[in-house]
Amino acid sequence: MLTFSEFFKSGEIVNLTEQVVYDELRAFIDKQEYEFCQCDKCLFDIVCVLLNSVPSLYSSSVVDRTYPSEEFSVEYEQLRKLVKGEVPRAIERVKGRLHH
Ligand SMILES: [Zn+2]
Repeated sequence: MLTFSEFFKSGEIVNLTEQVVYDELRAFIDKQEYEFCQCDKCLFDIVCVLLNSVPSLYSSSVVDRTYPSEEFSVEYEQLRKLVKGEVPRAIERVKGRLHH
């Protein structure tokens, strides 16, 4: 069996939630409707809060990711909506306990 590092750095196991969280945070920032600190530290905190508050969506198949089944697409879309709704909440939480 591969070592822990080889196992998880192989790129075979992907948590699709990470990409969704990044994309939705980015989209929220681009809208510029809400003021909050966007330094790296705060954005890292916001992403951690988000990742802890929504389910992970792991995949070990490039084929599934490239040609998603109907079921997978529905699950992905639900996750995207959930993350979108959580973004302002995560920002509020981090704003309330600034580390700097
Ligand atoms: Zn900051």
